[in-house]
Amino acid sequence: MIVFVLAFAAGTAVGVGISYTRWLRQRAEEGALRLRSRLLYELAEGDLEQVGDELEQACERETADPSLFLALAAIDRERQRVGRAKSIHRTVLASEDLPSEQRVAALLGLGRDLLREGNERAAVGALVRANSLSPRSVATLRSLAKALEQAGAWERAAAAWERVERQVQGRAARDAKVGRGHALAEQAEAFRRAGDEKRARKSAERATTLAPDSPHAWSMRARVEAAMGDAHEAMIAWQRAWELGPAQASGIVEEAWRWADRQGRQADVMARMLASSRDTSNAALAIALAERVALRHPEQAAASLEQVSTTSSFAQLALIRLRLRRGQRDQAREAALRAMAEARLVCGLCRDDLTDTPFRCERCQLWDTGVREA
Ligand SMILES: [Zn+2]
Repeated sequence: MIVFVLAFAAGTAVGVGISYTRWLRQRAEEGALRLRSRLLYELAEGDLEQVGDELEQACERETADPSLFLALAAIDRERQRVGRAKSIHRTVLASEDLPSEQRVAALLGLGRDLLREGNERAAVGALVRANSLSPRSVATLRSLAKALEQAGAWERAAAAWERVERQVQGRAARDAKVGRGHALAEQAEAFRRAGDEKRARKSAERATTLAPDSPHAWSMRARVEAAMGDAHEAMIAWQRAWELGPAQASGIVEEAWRWADRQGRQADVMARMLASSRDTSNAALAIALAERVALRHPEQAAASLEQVSTTSSFAQLALIRLRLRRGQRDQAREAALRAMAEARLVCGLCRDDLTDTPFRCERCQLWDTGVREA
């Protein structure tokens, strides 16, 4: 009898225990769901600090959920706390029973942390591991391509972009193709510097086929053609480059002119500059070309600046300068020159100075974003 009563009591206790645990679990799940939708909303509003604080608290409560830690690490990287992001990713990766999907996410996150720190080699290592666990992850491949670009591994970067291109469609596929073109353009430049002109040309030709609208790709192609001694192709490429990249045009024109000077090709390059300056309605391009055109054809240079002077105060200034120059009023000319120099080459997205890297913004990691700005 006593045994029976005890068994009954024990059974009831277990039953109550089970339903209490179930109730607790259900409440915890509801709480987690509410937390997630609140975080999603705050994230959409761009309130990173708030999201970070809440994630920190959540991580202290629910130490078993790696996805919260991964989210906190990603937020930390965005708010410039890369050191902590890295150690969170490493801690998550140290857990042995981590599901494969989250292992890939942690490796991808770690790769991005290392990339942000400028540690390209280690970033490539983490991203290659992520890629081998999940070969079809486009996010991993894209980050890998960028890491390889930053490491200057252009051939592998081009291969990574090609794999991205095969797995996506529409605009994303076009972007990946252009990304591959940029990587190949840099590869061509590396081959050219090493004196391997045949491979340089092959890469440069593919670069301009893949990224036909890129002044970067056409500039590198022009250098390669010039090195190969193909003056005609070099001039075509330079003209494309300055027409496609008005913001970078002054550097491109200068390079083409120096080459023409050495090769005795000034007349040919001048003819192309005249043609471009007649056709353009872009002030930056008109100014860049007028600088050189004015050496031989001051009237045409003035006419092309006149065309754009109503839309650009810099063109107006260049025009004044040109006219003063012919009137020999040196001081006025110097003043105008100084004012002209204020048109800096900056990234159109983040406004970073691009004087040293005219075709690529180091901060945005994007190609051909340059604009001229007062
Ligand atoms: Zn930028």
